[in-house]
Amino acid sequence: AKELVAFRNLETHFKTSAGTVKAVNDVSFSIREGETLCVVGESGCGKSVTAMSLMQLIESPPGKIVGGEIFFEGKDLLKLSKKDMSRLRGKEIAMIFQEPMSSLNPVFTIGKQITEPLLYHLNMTQKEAKARAIELITMVGIPRPEKIFHSYPHELSGGMRQRIMIAIALSCDPKLLIADEPTTALDVTIQAQILDLMRDIKTKRNTAIMMITHDLGVVAEMADFVVVMYAGKVIEEASVLELFREPRHPYTQGLLKAKPVINQRKERLYSIPGQVPNPVDLGENCHFHDRCEFCMEICKTKAPPLRAHIDGHKTACWLYEEEGKAQ
Ligand code: SF4
Ligand code: MG
Repeated sequence: AKELVAFRNLETHFKTSAGTVKAVNDVSFSIREGETLCVVGESGCGKSVTAMSLMQLIESPPGKIVGGEIFFEGKDLLKLSKKDMSRLRGKEIAMIFQEPMSSLNPVFTIGKQITEPLLYHLNMTQKEAKARAIELITMVGIPRPEKIFHSYPHELSGGMRQRIMIAIALSCDPKLLIADEPTTALDVTIQAQILDLMRDIKTKRNTAIMMITHDLGVVAEMADFVVVMYAGKVIEEASVLELFREPRHPYTQGLLKAKPVINQRKERLYSIPGQVPNPVDLGENCHFHDRCEFCMEICKTKAPPLRAHIDGHKTACWLYEEEGKAQ
């Protein structure tokens, strides 16, 4: 399939009173048409900031994209005007978040919120937009769509609200759907239903999905490809089968061995010894070196490059580099 999105050496920084946080630190990867790519990692690893950079929804200040490129169908999004970007957002690229309640407007009906992008982006008439909204509500598996159309967000359950968010996101038939922890706030049964729905959408409409999650169960169920992030960097990239069959980076190996803590709402969960490093003023070294049982001298002084192996699987780790082996 054709490449749809490409991050090239993206750098997104945040100024804090303690110093500069390189939340996204030289990140490159791409997403092909119709593919589900999961970005996985712990809280604060830069996965949400990567997505928000693509949407150009980084709050500035304190945040700023300071380097790199983000291509969407060959166009560098960072060079688009605000106006062109807002035409793309919600139309070609749509996003759903963890907490649908905070993204839905409590004072407007569901109908108004689903029809809004149709009126704005597709210039539909009220009548056409309503018909399309009813179709969309039905598509996301909610019975009695006419009634829901006239309901307010607080009248719906959490699972239903997330379905509505998906309906809104899909209203203009986007080429890319970004989903940031879309099921984290939901209970397990509803979570499974929402994931089923997203898989179904992907198959029927060939929508590419960039799914951000800390949950390896979600990765196993949803992903075609996986990007693992740690402290602002991509440290491993592989197909989902490869990643689970043969994780190569010691951090990924740890993730796969670790048992998640049973607290669905928290993003902190792995029992890998040690702490995620202080994100301020990270040195030019392997950011995982404090926690790595294979740490060598070179790991403390030099950042390992992200490199493709013969099979296309990528890792940023000195264990797989001649330079590292020579130590
Ligand atoms: Fe461990 Fe070194 Fe590889 Fe980092 S580069 S993960 S410290 S072996
Ligand atoms: Mg996040």
